[in-house]
Amino acid sequence: LAQLYGPLNQLSYIYRSVNQSLVDTEKLLSLLNEPTEVNDKENAPDLIVNDGEIEFDDVHFSYDGRSPALDGVSFKVPKGASVALVGESGSGKSTILRLLYRFYDLGEGQGRILIDGQDIRDVTQKSLRQAIGVVPQDPVLFNSSIGYNIGYGKFGATPEEIEAAARSAQMHERIISFPDGYNTKVGERGVRLSGGEKQRVAIARTLLKNPPILLLDEATSALDTSTEKDIQKALQNLVKGRSSLSIAHRLSTIASADLILVLKDGHIVEQGNFKELIQRDGLFASMWADQVSNDDPAVSISGQSIKK
Ligand code: ATP
Repeated sequence: LAQLYGPLNQLSYIYRSVNQSLVDTEKLLSLLNEPTEVNDKENAPDLIVNDGEIEFDDVHFSYDGRSPALDGVSFKVPKGASVALVGESGSGKSTILRLLYRFYDLGEGQGRILIDGQDIRDVTQKSLRQAIGVVPQDPVLFNSSIGYNIGYGKFGATPEEIEAAARSAQMHERIISFPDGYNTKVGERGVRLSGGEKQRVAIARTLLKNPPILLLDEATSALDTSTEKDIQKALQNLVKGRSSLSIAHRLSTIASADLILVLKDGHIVEQGNFKELIQRDGLFASMWADQVSNDDPAVSISGQSIKK
Protein backbone atom coordinates (compact mmCIF):
# COMPACT_ATOMS: atom_id res chain seq x y z
CA LEU A 1 0.00 0.00 0.00
CA ALA A 2 2.88 2.26 0.70
CA GLN A 3 3.75 2.18 -3.01
CA LEU A 4 0.63 4.18 -3.66
CA TYR A 5 2.17 7.40 -2.46
CA GLY A 6 4.34 7.95 -5.53
CA PRO A 7 1.53 7.60 -8.12
CA LEU A 8 -0.84 9.50 -5.85
CA ASN A 9 1.63 12.31 -5.68
CA GLN A 10 1.99 12.36 -9.44
CA LEU A 11 -1.74 12.29 -10.02
CA SER A 12 -2.12 15.19 -7.71
CA TYR A 13 0.50 17.22 -9.53
CA ILE A 14 -1.87 18.89 -11.99
CA TYR A 15 -4.36 19.63 -9.28
CA ARG A 16 -1.51 20.95 -7.27
CA SER A 17 -0.07 23.33 -9.85
CA VAL A 18 -3.50 24.73 -10.61
CA ASN A 19 -4.24 25.22 -6.98
CA GLN A 20 -0.78 26.14 -5.80
CA SER A 21 -1.50 29.76 -5.07
CA LEU A 22 -4.78 28.89 -3.37
CA VAL A 23 -3.07 26.32 -1.20
CA ASP A 24 -0.19 28.65 -0.39
CA THR A 25 -2.79 31.09 0.76
CA GLU A 26 -4.56 28.41 2.73
CA LYS A 27 -1.33 27.39 4.37
CA LEU A 28 -0.92 30.90 5.58
CA LEU A 29 -4.46 31.30 6.82
CA SER A 30 -3.31 32.01 10.31
CA LEU A 31 -0.89 34.64 9.06
CA LEU A 32 -3.29 36.15 6.64
CA ASN A 33 -6.47 38.06 6.92
CA GLU A 34 -6.99 38.76 3.29
CA PRO A 35 -5.03 37.72 0.22
CA THR A 36 -3.92 40.60 -1.96
CA GLU A 37 -2.68 40.78 -5.51
CA VAL A 38 1.03 41.25 -5.94
CA ASN A 39 2.24 41.27 -9.52
CA ASP A 40 5.66 40.27 -10.75
CA LYS A 41 7.60 42.81 -12.75
CA GLU A 42 7.97 42.09 -16.44
CA ASN A 43 10.78 39.58 -17.06
CA ALA A 44 11.43 39.33 -13.33
CA PRO A 45 14.23 36.87 -12.63
CA ASP A 46 13.95 34.04 -10.14
CA LEU A 47 15.29 34.48 -6.64
CA ILE A 48 18.66 32.81 -6.23
CA VAL A 49 19.25 31.64 -2.69
CA ASN A 50 22.79 30.89 -1.62
CA ASP A 51 22.93 31.64 2.08
CA GLY A 52 19.30 32.49 2.85
CA GLU A 53 20.27 35.76 4.52
CA ILE A 54 17.25 38.01 5.11
CA GLU A 55 17.35 41.76 5.60
CA PHE A 56 14.58 44.21 6.48
CA ASP A 57 15.88 47.68 5.70
CA ASP A 58 13.86 50.52 7.25
CA VAL A 59 10.51 48.90 6.46
CA HIS A 60 7.38 51.00 6.84
CA PHE A 61 4.00 49.49 6.15
CA SER A 62 0.37 50.37 6.70
CA TYR A 63 -2.70 48.33 5.78
CA ASP A 64 -5.01 51.30 5.58
CA GLY A 65 -2.59 54.03 4.52
CA ARG A 66 -2.99 55.77 7.86
CA SER A 67 -2.02 53.82 10.96
CA PRO A 68 1.39 52.15 10.64
CA ALA A 69 1.67 48.41 11.22
CA LEU A 70 5.46 48.59 10.84
CA ASP A 71 7.21 51.86 11.43
CA GLY A 72 10.86 51.72 10.45
CA VAL A 73 11.83 48.10 11.07
CA SER A 74 15.42 47.03 10.31
CA PHE A 75 17.06 43.74 11.14
CA LYS A 76 19.09 40.95 9.59
CA VAL A 77 18.71 37.21 9.77
CA PRO A 78 22.19 35.85 9.04
CA LYS A 79 22.66 32.56 7.21
CA GLY A 80 21.05 29.72 9.17
CA ALA A 81 20.12 31.91 12.15
CA SER A 82 16.90 31.60 14.11
CA VAL A 83 15.11 34.83 14.91
CA ALA A 84 12.17 34.95 17.33
CA LEU A 85 9.57 37.70 17.12
CA VAL A 86 7.85 38.55 20.38
CA GLY A 87 5.52 41.36 21.33
CA GLU A 88 1.99 42.07 22.34
CA SER A 89 -0.96 41.47 20.04
CA GLY A 90 -0.98 43.96 17.16
CA SER A 91 2.70 44.86 17.51
CA GLY A 92 3.50 43.79 13.93
CA LYS A 93 4.83 40.21 14.18
CA SER A 94 2.56 38.67 11.52
CA THR A 95 3.01 41.68 9.26
CA ILE A 96 6.75 40.94 9.11
CA LEU A 97 6.04 37.36 7.96
CA ARG A 98 3.34 38.43 5.49
CA LEU A 99 5.66 40.98 3.88
CA LEU A 100 8.49 38.47 3.57
CA TYR A 101 6.11 36.02 1.88
CA ARG A 102 5.11 38.92 -0.37
CA PHE A 103 1.42 39.16 0.28
CA TYR A 104 1.97 42.87 -0.03
CA ASP A 105 4.66 44.83 -1.84
CA LEU A 106 6.36 47.76 -0.21
CA GLY A 107 5.84 51.03 -2.06
CA GLU A 108 8.33 53.77 -2.82
CA GLY A 109 9.96 55.08 0.33
CA GLN A 110 8.71 52.16 2.45
CA GLY A 111 12.10 50.50 2.67
CA ARG A 112 13.31 47.19 1.27
CA ILE A 113 13.27 43.50 2.05
CA LEU A 114 16.23 41.58 0.71
CA ILE A 115 17.10 37.90 0.50
CA ASP A 116 20.76 37.34 -0.27
CA GLY A 117 20.91 40.91 -1.53
CA GLN A 118 17.94 40.60 -3.92
CA ASP A 119 14.95 42.88 -3.37
CA ILE A 120 11.99 40.51 -3.11
CA ARG A 121 9.85 42.90 -5.21
CA ASP A 122 12.18 42.29 -8.16
CA VAL A 123 12.04 38.48 -8.28
CA THR A 124 9.22 36.10 -9.17
CA GLN A 125 6.75 35.27 -6.41
CA LYS A 126 6.94 31.64 -7.39
CA SER A 127 10.68 31.38 -6.79
CA LEU A 128 10.35 33.35 -3.56
CA ARG A 129 7.67 31.03 -2.24
CA GLN A 130 9.61 27.97 -3.30
CA ALA A 131 12.44 29.14 -1.10
CA ILE A 132 10.22 29.65 1.94
CA GLY A 133 8.58 27.00 4.09
CA VAL A 134 5.66 28.01 6.24
CA VAL A 135 4.44 26.29 9.38
CA PRO A 136 1.22 28.03 10.41
CA GLN A 137 -0.44 27.89 13.81
CA ASP A 138 -3.29 25.80 12.56
CA PRO A 139 -2.16 23.91 9.46
CA VAL A 140 -4.71 22.98 6.83
CA LEU A 141 -4.79 19.26 6.05
CA PHE A 142 -6.34 17.65 3.00
CA ASN A 143 -9.08 15.07 3.42
CA SER A 144 -6.67 12.43 2.29
CA SER A 145 -4.19 9.98 3.79
CA ILE A 146 -1.65 11.19 6.28
CA GLY A 147 1.08 9.98 3.92
CA TYR A 148 -0.32 12.18 1.18
CA ASN A 149 -0.49 15.13 3.52
CA ILE A 150 3.21 14.79 4.32
CA GLY A 151 4.31 13.81 0.80
CA TYR A 152 2.68 16.95 -0.54
CA GLY A 153 5.85 18.80 0.52
CA LYS A 154 7.82 17.26 -2.33
CA PHE A 155 6.70 16.17 -5.77
CA GLY A 156 7.32 12.45 -6.19
CA ALA A 157 8.36 11.87 -2.57
CA THR A 158 8.99 8.18 -1.92
CA PRO A 159 7.42 6.33 1.03
CA GLU A 160 10.90 6.14 2.58
CA GLU A 161 11.30 9.90 2.35
CA ILE A 162 7.84 10.42 3.80
CA GLU A 163 8.61 8.15 6.71
CA ALA A 164 11.99 9.80 7.34
CA ALA A 165 10.30 13.21 7.44
CA ALA A 166 7.61 11.91 9.80
CA ARG A 167 10.28 10.46 12.08
CA SER A 168 12.19 13.70 12.12
CA ALA A 169 8.95 15.54 12.91
CA GLN A 170 8.28 13.14 15.82
CA MET A 171 5.11 11.91 14.14
CA HIS A 172 6.03 8.41 12.92
CA GLU A 173 5.10 6.52 16.11
CA ARG A 174 1.74 8.26 16.23
CA ILE A 175 1.07 7.47 12.57
CA ILE A 176 1.81 3.77 12.90
CA SER A 177 -0.60 3.63 15.82
CA PHE A 178 -3.43 4.53 13.39
CA PRO A 179 -5.42 1.61 11.93
CA ASP A 180 -4.03 2.00 8.40
CA GLY A 181 -0.72 3.63 9.29
CA TYR A 182 0.36 6.08 6.61
CA ASN A 183 -2.77 5.29 4.58
CA THR A 184 -5.09 6.44 7.33
CA LYS A 185 -7.39 9.20 6.19
CA VAL A 186 -7.16 12.39 8.19
CA GLY A 187 -9.26 15.52 8.29
CA GLU A 188 -13.00 15.94 8.46
CA ARG A 189 -13.72 12.51 7.04
CA GLY A 190 -11.00 10.61 8.84
CA VAL A 191 -8.91 10.58 11.98
CA ARG A 192 -9.04 13.91 13.72
CA LEU A 193 -5.61 15.16 14.65
CA SER A 194 -4.88 17.40 17.59
CA GLY A 195 -3.38 20.85 17.03
CA GLY A 196 0.06 19.58 18.02
CA GLU A 197 -0.22 16.63 15.62
CA LYS A 198 -1.32 18.83 12.74
CA GLN A 199 1.61 21.09 13.39
CA ARG A 200 3.97 18.09 13.30
CA VAL A 201 2.43 17.02 9.96
CA ALA A 202 3.15 20.54 8.69
CA ILE A 203 6.71 20.26 10.01
CA ALA A 204 7.18 16.90 8.24
CA ARG A 205 5.78 18.36 5.01
CA THR A 206 8.16 21.30 5.28
CA LEU A 207 11.12 19.01 6.00
CA LEU A 208 10.37 17.31 2.68
CA LYS A 209 10.06 20.65 0.90
CA ASN A 210 13.52 21.45 2.29
CA PRO A 211 13.41 25.24 1.92
CA PRO A 212 16.38 27.41 2.96
CA ILE A 213 14.06 29.87 4.74
CA LEU A 214 11.34 29.18 7.28
CA LEU A 215 8.42 31.14 8.66
CA LEU A 216 6.87 29.69 11.78
CA ASP A 217 3.80 30.78 13.64
CA GLU A 218 3.81 28.86 16.88
CA ALA A 219 0.56 27.75 18.43
CA THR A 220 -0.44 29.76 21.47
CA SER A 221 -2.43 26.96 23.04
CA ALA A 222 -1.03 25.10 26.00
CA LEU A 223 0.17 21.60 25.22
CA ASP A 224 0.81 18.70 27.54
CA THR A 225 4.45 18.12 28.43
CA SER A 226 5.08 15.19 26.11
CA THR A 227 3.48 16.92 23.09
CA GLU A 228 5.46 20.03 23.94
CA LYS A 229 8.68 17.98 23.95
CA ASP A 230 7.80 16.34 20.63
CA ILE A 231 7.09 19.68 18.98
CA GLN A 232 10.27 21.13 20.42
CA LYS A 233 12.33 18.29 18.97
CA ALA A 234 10.51 18.47 15.62
CA LEU A 235 11.13 22.21 15.43
CA GLN A 236 14.80 21.78 16.32
CA ASN A 237 15.16 19.32 13.45
CA LEU A 238 13.37 21.70 11.11
CA VAL A 239 15.23 24.94 11.89
CA LYS A 240 18.67 23.33 11.86
CA GLY A 241 20.72 24.88 9.05
CA ARG A 242 17.92 27.17 7.84
CA SER A 243 17.26 30.86 8.34
CA SER A 244 14.08 31.12 10.35
CA LEU A 245 11.69 33.78 11.56
CA SER A 246 9.27 32.59 14.25
CA ILE A 247 6.36 34.22 15.96
CA ALA A 248 7.46 32.72 19.21
CA HIS A 249 5.41 31.67 22.19
CA ARG A 250 7.49 28.80 23.49
CA LEU A 251 10.27 29.12 25.98
CA SER A 252 12.32 26.56 24.06
CA THR A 253 12.16 28.64 20.86
CA ILE A 254 12.80 31.92 22.62
CA ALA A 255 15.63 30.66 24.80
CA SER A 256 17.45 29.01 21.90
CA ALA A 257 16.90 31.79 19.34
CA ASP A 258 20.04 33.44 18.00
CA LEU A 259 18.22 36.74 18.08
CA ILE A 260 14.99 37.90 19.70
CA LEU A 261 13.25 40.97 18.29
CA VAL A 262 10.86 42.61 20.73
CA LEU A 263 8.16 44.52 18.89
CA LYS A 264 5.89 47.23 20.15
CA ASP A 265 3.59 49.38 18.01
CA GLY A 266 5.42 48.45 14.81
CA HIS A 267 8.89 49.22 16.20
CA ILE A 268 11.68 46.96 17.36
CA VAL A 269 12.17 48.21 20.89
CA GLU A 270 14.73 45.66 22.07
CA GLN A 271 16.87 43.00 20.47
CA GLY A 272 19.37 40.46 21.67
CA ASN A 273 19.51 36.89 22.83
CA PHE A 274 17.54 35.64 25.83
CA LYS A 275 20.28 36.24 28.36
CA GLU A 276 21.05 39.73 27.08
CA LEU A 277 17.39 40.75 27.17
CA ILE A 278 16.85 39.45 30.68
CA GLN A 279 19.94 41.34 31.84
CA ARG A 280 18.72 44.48 30.13
CA ASP A 281 15.68 44.43 32.41
CA GLY A 282 13.40 46.18 29.91
CA LEU A 283 10.14 45.21 28.17
CA PHE A 284 11.20 41.64 27.44
CA ALA A 285 12.30 41.07 31.02
CA SER A 286 8.97 42.36 32.32
CA MET A 287 7.02 40.22 29.82
CA TRP A 288 9.08 37.31 30.99
CA ALA A 289 8.42 38.05 34.66
CA ASP A 290 4.68 38.20 33.90
CA GLN A 291 4.84 34.80 32.28
CA VAL A 292 6.82 33.20 35.05
CA SER A 293 4.24 34.35 37.57
CA ASN A 294 1.49 33.09 35.27
CA ASP A 295 -0.26 29.90 36.42
CA ASP A 296 0.14 28.28 33.05
CA PRO A 297 3.79 27.41 32.49
CA ALA A 298 3.08 25.47 29.29
CA VAL A 299 2.90 28.65 27.25
CA SER A 300 5.79 30.88 27.90
CA ILE A 301 5.65 34.18 26.15
CA SER A 302 2.43 34.66 24.32
CA GLY A 303 1.61 37.87 22.55
CA GLN A 304 -1.94 37.49 23.76
CA SER A 305 -1.08 37.47 27.42
CA ILE A 306 1.39 40.30 27.54
CA LYS A 307 0.10 43.25 29.46
CA LYS A 308 0.13 46.63 27.78
P1 ATP B 1 -1.09 39.02 17.00
O1 ATP B 1 -0.11 38.55 18.05
O2 ATP B 1 -2.40 39.39 17.58
O3 ATP B 1 -1.21 38.11 15.83
P2 ATP B 1 0.74 40.78 15.57
O4 ATP B 1 1.87 41.25 16.43
O5 ATP B 1 1.03 39.67 14.64
O6 ATP B 1 -0.51 40.45 16.45
P3 ATP B 1 -0.08 42.22 13.19
O7 ATP B 1 -1.12 41.25 12.78
O8 ATP B 1 1.18 42.26 12.42
O9 ATP B 1 0.25 42.06 14.75
O10 ATP B 1 -0.77 43.65 13.18
C1 ATP B 1 -0.06 44.89 13.22
C2 ATP B 1 -1.06 46.02 13.06
O11 ATP B 1 -1.66 45.96 11.78
C3 ATP B 1 -2.20 45.98 14.07
O12 ATP B 1 -2.49 47.32 14.43
C4 ATP B 1 -3.34 45.37 13.28
O13 ATP B 1 -4.57 45.86 13.74
C5 ATP B 1 -3.07 45.86 11.88
N1 ATP B 1 -3.54 44.88 10.88
C6 ATP B 1 -3.15 43.60 10.77
N2 ATP B 1 -3.74 42.99 9.72
C7 ATP B 1 -4.52 43.93 9.13
C8 ATP B 1 -5.37 43.94 7.99
N3 ATP B 1 -5.53 42.85 7.23
N4 ATP B 1 -6.02 45.08 7.71
C9 ATP B 1 -5.88 46.18 8.47
N5 ATP B 1 -5.07 46.24 9.54
C10 ATP B 1 -4.39 45.14 9.88
